[in-house]
Amino acid sequence: MGASRTDMATLGRDLAGQVLLPGDDGYDRRRRVWNAMVDRRPALIARCAHRDDVAAAVRFGRDHGLEIGVLCGGHSVLGLPVSDGGLLIDLSLMDAVRVDPPSRRAWVQGGAPLGALDRATQRFGLATTAGNVSHTGVGGLTLGGGMGWLARQYGLACDNVVSFEMVTADGDVVRADAEENADLFWGLRGGGGNFGVVTEFGFRLHESGTRALLADLYFDPEDAAAPMGGWRDLIADAPRRATLTAWTGIAGDWPHLPSELHDRPLASVGYVWVGDPEEGRRLLPALRDLGSPVAERVQELPYLDLQTMDDTVEGHALRRYWKGHYFTGFPDDAVRAFLAPGDGPFRPAASLQSYGGAIADVADEETAFSHRGALVEFVASQRWSDPAEDAGRMAAARRYGASLEPYATGAYVNALTDEGETGVRRAYPAEKLARLTALKDRYDPDNVFHLNHNIPPTARAEP
Ligand code: FAD
Repeated sequence: MGASRTDMATLGRDLAGQVLLPGDDGYDRRRRVWNAMVDRRPALIARCAHRDDVAAAVRFGRDHGLEIGVLCGGHSVLGLPVSDGGLLIDLSLMDAVRVDPPSRRAWVQGGAPLGALDRATQRFGLATTAGNVSHTGVGGLTLGGGMGWLARQYGLACDNVVSFEMVTADGDVVRADAEENADLFWGLRGGGGNFGVVTEFGFRLHESGTRALLADLYFDPEDAAAPMGGWRDLIADAPRRATLTAWTGIAGDWPHLPSELHDRPLASVGYVWVGDPEEGRRLLPALRDLGSPVAERVQELPYLDLQTMDDTVEGHALRRYWKGHYFTGFPDDAVRAFLAPGDGPFRPAASLQSYGGAIADVADEETAFSHRGALVEFVASQRWSDPAEDAGRMAAARRYGASLEPYATGAYVNALTDEGETGVRRAYPAEKLARLTALKDRYDPDNVFHLNHNIPPTARAEP
């Protein structure tokens, strides 16, 4: 099967949005995603303007036997929704955010980037948990869980969803919340894009204020093991407004570091505080007691600046590769492995972010998201521009990831790359995977939505 140009043009006439075919203006721009390694050419891109467009596009894809990918922010590291010869359902026109301050609710369309959500809610001094880079999509981030600087106060992004509107594999529109389709509501909070296309998220908002504080102590990596061990020990009793952070990598020419530290391997420990910065400063003595750093940064900033401060360094047009793990404990041997990412030009960078707080308040069985007992999340990352470095860069990240795996307790589905089924089994324990599979059997038995970290339906005998 397949769709002729005439068929595709007919779909274009039926949509309030737009259909882009190879050669059309804008086709190349819309098929490009965050990771520049992804260079695939869908047969058509359906730029949907509302849920009826989405339903029409899903039906069209099925009728013509096209693989269907669902694109929100385009930040899945492997560019999962974009396939050669398939149908790309591009939700980026559906980026509206409506805020109702009295009820502390926001309704967010399925293609919105995080920045749209943050900007709309901060106008009222409100926010909900969103990730750390504003061009990431609300869609993929929330459906996989959604970690951010507010998560220890208010739970993950998915914990703050009160309702979903979703287009099913049959092109029907369903709603899922605590009362209606409660099983689907469970699965959409962590199960990823396996069940349909979410066209609207309803979020609970919080009076988070508009201010934040950053604190980081920088060390030579060879001197960082003791401070990092001490930093780890602070996590258990840290206030919920603080997310403890650690990092290792090659320092950029960052204004907060003296120039002699630029381009040098460094490691840092610190925290991000959302709320009154004065209150946040009360944690500084405990941090400073950890050791004598080569540099220190303490910076007050608006919450919106915090949410965009990594937008450039995490920008588009570079080649990317990640390895991620969850840890329920981070013993000294793991600290040493973290600080030894490998030498040479392909040395990966890595970060740790603390969990706990409100994330762990939610009972594990309440959502498809798992690993609520995680102490820290680890992500090793590579970014480069020369394709000749692809193999070496990815091998270095894999080696580094493997050196920490003995201490790991699982993986975050949204940080998976090319682990395939093994990765999905690390993201969900067996009993959750069984429940997710049952949900998949019910909502998408033909696995229409498989361009994701896939939870396949139960295999069916050939007729
Ligand atoms: P896309 O590639 O557009 O979508 C990924 C998948 O999500 C699709 O294949 C589809 O299955 C599904 N999907 C997306 N939208 C919908 C929808 N509306 N309906 C149904 N399915 C949908 N994660 C965190 O938790 N916290 C962070 O702070 C964080 N920071 C990040 C920073 C960067 C620079 C990057 C690259 C990633 C970050 N992530 C973070 C990981 C991020 O959550 C995942 O990469 C996520 O998949 C990105 O979602 P997206 O919509 O941008 O991706």
